Amino acid sequence: MVQSPPSGPTVAFDAVSKRYSGGTVAVDRVSVEIAGGSFVALVGSSGSGKSTLLKMINRLIEPSEGCTRIAGANVADEPAPVLRRKIGYVFQNIGLFPHMTVAENIAIGLRLAGGDGHDADRVGALLDLVDLPRAVATRLPDALSGGQRQRVGVARALATAPGLMLMDEPFGALDPVTRDQLGHAIRALHDRLGLTTIMVTHDMAEALILADRVLVMDAGRIVADETPRALLEGAGGPVAQALVAVPRDQAQRMRALAGDVA
Ligand code: ADP
Repeated sequence: MVQSPPSGPTVAFDAVSKRYSGGTVAVDRVSVEIAGGSFVALVGSSGSGKSTLLKMINRLIEPSEGCTRIAGANVADEPAPVLRRKIGYVFQNIGLFPHMTVAENIAIGLRLAGGDGHDADRVGALLDLVDLPRAVATRLPDALSGGQRQRVGVARALATAPGLMLMDEPFGALDPVTRDQLGHAIRALHDRLGLTTIMVTHDMAEALILADRVLVMDAGRIVADETPRALLEGAGGPVAQALVAVPRDQAQRMRALAGDVA
């Protein structure tokens, strides 16, 4: 039922900038191409421009200059609602409607796809896809754990069978164990459906573990564009290496502690 192209589309930023009226340059002439089917993490400290760059893909934010292309087409060339049907979007507080059941929340995504929105089989298949039991379909969001709610959000985002998935701190509000499980689940879905996935995170460890490629942002610019392996081997420059140092130091301290215990 969830039909996706074998490989998601390319995404390209072409000298894209976003300036706010107060003078803030949130994104500063970014040009980069993301290959179809890849899983890219956008990493950087708070305020570095990650969310702004991401939202210039699905037109939640319009650039001041430059453009974003999906499979070669300028995103500004079609109406935003039409564009967004082809793009899944998951963010931290997923925004499920509290008075609607899980099935109804997912059906909103199906309605976007042009269905009648009440196709229980399709809702069921989407729940299967995100590893939730079909029995949760009749529950209200409040009766789910945070991780389950986030999975419902992913199911809703996948309802239109998009080739492109945008995620903005999707695991930010979750406990570490749930966060880890959901991260692996998202990566597995990405591989299974052949998506292009772009994920904003401030957590370099998460980026290194999940992504094929890590873009590091600083003051509105991409200052490093590396594979996780290259970053771990010291590439990417000082900003990237300062971010890599955090999980590396933690791992070293834990190894030392384990040595003390052994
Ligand atoms: P990140 O996602 O890396 O935390 P953002 O893209 O949210 O960063 O923000 C980048 C910069 O743009 C920050 O300095 C932020 O304060 C500023 N900014 C974001 N949205 C607005 C807005 N609507 N008006 C003015 N400044 C904004």
